[in-house]
Amino acid sequence: MLEQTIKTNIQSIETNIQKNCELSHRNPHSVNLICVSKSVDNETTKQVADTGIVHFAENRMEKLIEKKAFLSDQKQIKWHFIGNLQRRKVKNIINDIDYFHALDNFKLAEEINKRALNPIKCFVQVNVSEETSKQGLTISEVEEFIQSLSEFKNVVVIGLMTMAPFEAKREELQSIFSTLNKLKVTIEEKDLSYAPCTELSMGMSRDYEVAIQEGATFVRVGSKFFNEEGNEVAER
Ligand SMILES: *Cc1c(COP(=O)(O)O)cnc(C)c1O
Repeated sequence: MLEQTIKTNIQSIETNIQKNCELSHRNPHSVNLICVSKSVDNETTKQVADTGIVHFAENRMEKLIEKKAFLSDQKQIKWHFIGNLQRRKVKNIINDIDYFHALDNFKLAEEINKRALNPIKCFVQVNVSEETSKQGLTISEVEEFIQSLSEFKNVVVIGLMTMAPFEAKREELQSIFSTLNKLKVTIEEKDLSYAPCTELSMGMSRDYEVAIQEGATFVRVGSKFFNEEGNEVAER
């Protein structure tokens, strides 16, 4: 992939982050840009890392481990796992990642707690729109679920994560993201040591700008890094 294309794309994403932070009176440093590198090879991922991006996300274990090995001299990189993680596979990956974005059941938390050598930063995945095709707890299940994790010293709920429906228009996106933000604040205010819940992982290529306006602190951007055809923000 052309190095210049990647650099131009990154510049455009960063400008958009800046712009949307200004619009919503936020500090741009409060938004962490994650490069979702699942669709590209090791070399292309390295090109992104060489520009100074530190957060990378994968949704397949084998690929994450392979890329981490390939980029092993880049110690600054933080690895995010954003995929569905089967309980029996936890032990194969959990000590290779810095963040896990898809915690949504007790048994999985129990296994992470058991296998992790250090506390793992987890996002509880929430299916705000209650699409049947999506993973995640419903809004009404989240508080009780988080309380059930109090004994797990290796599971730290740093925040909540969601994915908006693919076809959602701006208003629906705003509603989904602000709903998640309110829930995050409710949990944050409980001041739980095992669930500080200060972070919001929301926003992808097509909706990260709206997500930032609604309080996202981690945006998971994939195709916008790598698409060749310009960076125009999709009209909604
Ligand atoms: C693939 C993926 C992304 C990135 O999607 P893009 O539309 O390519 O930006 C973000 N989050 C999750 C959970 C994903 O699986």
